[in-house]
Amino acid sequence: IPCSAQEEHIFQSRHPAVPVPDITLPDFVLQDAELYADKVAFVEAATGKTYTYAEVVRDTRRFAKALRSLGLRKGHVVVVALPNVAEYGIVALGIMAAGGVFSGANPTAHESELKKQAEAADAKLIVTNDLNYGKVKGLGLPVIVLGEETISTAVNWNELLDAADRAGDILSYEEVLQSDLCALPFSSGTTGMSKGVMLTHRNLVANLCSSLFGVGPEMVGQVATLGLIPFFHIYGITGICCATLRNKGKVVVMGRFELRTFLNALITQEVNFAPIVPPIILALVKNPIVEEFDLSKLKLKAIMTAAAPLAPELLTAFENKFPGVQVQELFSDQKNKMIVFKFATKPVFRKAYGLTEHSCITLTHGDPSKGHGIAKKNSVGFLLPNLEIKFINPENGQSLPKNTPGEICVRSQCVMKGYFNNKEETARTIDADGWLHTGDIGYIDNDGDIFIVDRIKELIKYKGFQVAPAELEAILLTHPSVEDAAVVPLPDEEAGEIPAACVVMSKGAEESEEDIMEFVASNVAHYKKVRVVQFVDSIPKSPSGKIMRRLLKEKMGSGSKAS
Ligand code: AMP
Repeated sequence: IPCSAQEEHIFQSRHPAVPVPDITLPDFVLQDAELYADKVAFVEAATGKTYTYAEVVRDTRRFAKALRSLGLRKGHVVVVALPNVAEYGIVALGIMAAGGVFSGANPTAHESELKKQAEAADAKLIVTNDLNYGKVKGLGLPVIVLGEETISTAVNWNELLDAADRAGDILSYEEVLQSDLCALPFSSGTTGMSKGVMLTHRNLVANLCSSLFGVGPEMVGQVATLGLIPFFHIYGITGICCATLRNKGKVVVMGRFELRTFLNALITQEVNFAPIVPPIILALVKNPIVEEFDLSKLKLKAIMTAAAPLAPELLTAFENKFPGVQVQELFSDQKNKMIVFKFATKPVFRKAYGLTEHSCITLTHGDPSKGHGIAKKNSVGFLLPNLEIKFINPENGQSLPKNTPGEICVRSQCVMKGYFNNKEETARTIDADGWLHTGDIGYIDNDGDIFIVDRIKELIKYKGFQVAPAELEAILLTHPSVEDAAVVPLPDEEAGEIPAACVVMSKGAEESEEDIMEFVASNVAHYKKVRVVQFVDSIPKSPSGKIMRRLLKEKMGSGSKAS
């Protein structure tokens, strides 16, 4: 903590402050929806199923009413284990409108992982689909199931909404305030296990106001956004679903990435804005399938990558493969059967940096045509309006001047209320002055462009998904032959990072590295699988018993290069 005599290096956004209205997230997002009643709000890419704005407003209200009649009260948590489906936004907004707290879970999670989240969140209810019902039916909680099938032990979504129409008004209902919690996504933060991140309506409305500051009236109602990033992640639900609904655009919902369906959806649904993750850029650069498509009708104007670092080499490869980056349009070069990304000005991509604990987007490239300035190619952009940032020396907490890398700390109305039921981790992450310590290392240059250069927190990012090393270490330690284990990230071209484990086996153990990998895989969602296992004699630890992850990472990194 810097002593008062020392100058604090605090940087403000280079953009003027934007107002944040005092309303709940559903009210903010669906404001003026009646003016766009017949416009499509959600369309499912695979099935063509649509919801208009009138239907979204109607079903959000019906679902909120149904939840209250089921006994949901203010502050009750509802775990939602759904893939991206047309109803997802309605489910999340309905929970919030009822005063509940939406806690998105990865639908591909293992049964035990869903149990852990439901218990940690003290959930009162689960929403899932027929495919995933088997994983949550044993949790002892009421379950609402989306799908045509009626399951006798669960509440069917369609029947529930119909019943809500018939039910009288629930009068004994407490008013939902902007200071109330509305979301509880899970994140491991800088250390340890996944924790519930308490976000209020205020946090999310403020984040949307900051991140949408550049959107002028001409954009309202116009934009078709690709809804491929999982909606259980804060970036999916706020950055894509809520932001598009606020603008009265169309969300083109995709449950999973498949290159042909992806390209087909971009063309047929006339997608203008595609927020994606770096591995998709890799597929666009390397996969010959791209050349099967007639891309002349593409209406794509911008691609945004976030959630994980985008390797500068990949960006360069992309630019080399798709030259002519100039105007704000994406179209095909018929002659070369290639996609050519043309933008008004560089950069090719709008990158974004954010974290769950900060309600989503924190830094982004702006829109040069609106005078936001042009962020440099390998920067993650500039600070959004209403935000403050500083870079500190992680050893002594002193803030650092421009061009000097340090731990990124952010302060704004978007900073989470804290970790659910975890005062200790909350105090470690948000300091007494309200600064959120991100565990990422970066710096700001003379022009206000911000660069991310390293991550000091334990977190591993596999294709943008969070993998908490502590969680995998705990699973490894349940194996009878494992004496000690440590999990660290290794760089990977396709996934960004992969989880790699150093394992100390007990004397006489006969299992192979593959057996250990399979053991972990049978206990976790696919993206958390340990993909490299190395048997070692001991795990290097500090005198206080902390795993020396940096040392291990370097050792394993050099080992994997040599092999
Ligand atoms: P999550 O809470 O899942 O969004 O993860 C947040 C973390 O992802 C950040 O603290 C960073 O470590 C990483 N991250 C997100 N966006 C970027 C980016 N554009 N560049 C580098 N790292 C990123």
